[in-house]
Formats: sequence, structure tokens, C-alpha cells
Amino acid sequence: MHANKEMRTVAIYGKGGIGKSVISANLSASLAELGETVLQVGCDPKHDSIATLCGQLKPTINDLARETERFGRIKRKDLESRLFTGFNGVLGCEAGGPPPAQGCAGKGVTLALELLNDHKVPERHGITFMIYDILGDSVCGGFFRPVREGFAREVYVVGCGEFLTLYMVNNILRALRIVHDSGAEVMAAGIIDNMRGVPNEAAIVDDFGKLVGVPVIHHVPRDKIVQQAEFQGKTVMEAFPESNQANEYRTLAKKVLENEGRYVPNPTTMAEIKKIVKARTEEVTA
Ligand code: ADP
Ligand code: MG
Repeated sequence: MHANKEMRTVAIYGKGGIGKSVISANLSASLAELGETVLQVGCDPKHDSIATLCGQLKPTINDLARETERFGRIKRKDLESRLFTGFNGVLGCEAGGPPPAQGCAGKGVTLALELLNDHKVPERHGITFMIYDILGDSVCGGFFRPVREGFAREVYVVGCGEFLTLYMVNNILRALRIVHDSGAEVMAAGIIDNMRGVPNEAAIVDDFGKLVGVPVIHHVPRDKIVQQAEFQGKTVMEAFPESNQANEYRTLAKKVLENEGRYVPNPTTMAEIKKIVKARTEEVTA
């Protein structure tokens, strides 16, 4: 159905715990509802990206590499055993990482992504939309290799209205700017505000987006239904398809599908971010 369409390759970046995996999984499920054939790749050593889509924590490509001792020896059939079909037919896999305190997590991620591409996994499964769910906590180059090496061409950064979180978003945008300027075909496509309940939060994140030249594509409300779905081991889309929160993820998916905006980020300073947060906070607390 999408035979002539170029595959979209999207990276979701953000600090640990901000909500990347919840957003990725619900976005994937919503995109599938809209007719896309989605592959979600978890690129966080935590390897819980596809757990709610696929029902449980799944073994990773890096585990496979350890079992066979070398990435180079991995056969297509073994790699396919690390692909799982989840809710709404979304395909998922986890890059995984080295054992804690050993090796380089970023390198493990890159090797896994190379393997998926070498074996033409997206082509063979007719994927129209790839989502890479990537930890952006550290400025370790390894976590930016997926965009540096062209695996993902559009980036969404997940944030919220907390000052230090915006500072982290700014750091990720700075890294992205450097990668873009060094010649990689990657651009920012938007900021996703995964709201935390900060006073005047939407205005804060909107102002920040204007300052760094990357618009906020959607403000996702905080809702305890996310935890309720998580307790069931499911996405919100599967556990509570009629809920307000599910509709928020559907809206996000439509916006992402229609979004043609591509931006070269203009990172700012901590002092500028502080100014925005202070002004917008005083507006509602004065
Ligand atoms: P990350 O992948 O960025 O490390 P997760 O997606 O695992 O973060 O989210 C961390 C926790 O935050 C989840 O366990 C979930 O319960 C909670 N969470 C994420 N988004 C929301 C939301 N919109 N409303 C309520 N809780 C949320
Ligand atoms: Mg995660």
C-alpha cells in the first residue's frame, strides 16, 4: 500500500525516565492504526522500549551477539528471532547493550542497527515507519551514531516544563546541531512535551521551542492511566483505547505523520532557559 513511499525514520531522544518509551510505544500503535507498517527499535540498555507493545521484556540483539560471540557471525534467522510482533502488528526489537559496567552502550546500539540494515530487515518487512527510541542522557557520541550514520533522519526530543529537563533537551539539540553541521542528513522535527504538572507548563515549553528554533509538536498530558496500562503490561492504546489519553497519542501520531517541518536547532544557554521558566512561573503564581 505504501510501495512508492519513502520509509520515514524517526528518532525519539530524551533523558532517562522522561517518557520516551511510553510515547514511542503508543505512537507506534497509533501509527499502525493509521495504516503504517511500524518497526520500533529500543536503543536504551534498559531494553524496555517494546515491553508494553509485545507483552513483556524481550531478549536483545546484543544478547544474541554475546551468545554467538561476534556480531559478524549472526545469521538472518537468528536476528529474526529478536524481532517480535506486538499490538496492532507493530514490529519491535531491542538493541540492548553490554553487561552493566562493561563495554560501551552506544557502540552496542550502533552494531545492532548496522545488523538490522545489513540484513535489510526494514525492506523485507515492508516497513514504512521506523521509530528509534534512544537514550539521550549522556553526550556520549555512541548514542548519536544512529543519527550521525543516517539511520534516523528526523528527531523528536521529549521534554517537559522542568528547568533542568529543558537544559537536557538543549544539550541534545546542541549535539544534534553538531551532527547536522558535520554533514549528517538529520534535522529536528519537533519537541514533544510530556507534561509533568509544572505551573504554566505548556507556555514554558512553547517559549523554549521558539528560543531554540524547534517547535513543540504536542503537549501530552500526564495521566495515571499510563501507569494503569503499564501494570497490565500494555500500551494505553491497547488497554484503554477509548480513553482521553489514547486520543492524545492518536493526535500526536497524526501530527507526526503530517509534519513536514525540519529544523536546524539553535541551542541556547542555561541563563536564557532560566529566564523563560521564571517569567512564565511568575505569571501564574504572582
Ligand atoms: P524513558 O523511556 O524516557 O526512560 P519511560 O517511557 O519508561 O521513560 O517513562 C518513565 C515512566 O514515566 C513510566 O514508567 C510511566 O509510568 C511514566 N509516564 C510517562 N509518560 C507519562 C504520562 N503522560 N502520564 C503519566 N505517567 C507517564
Ligand atoms: Mg525507555
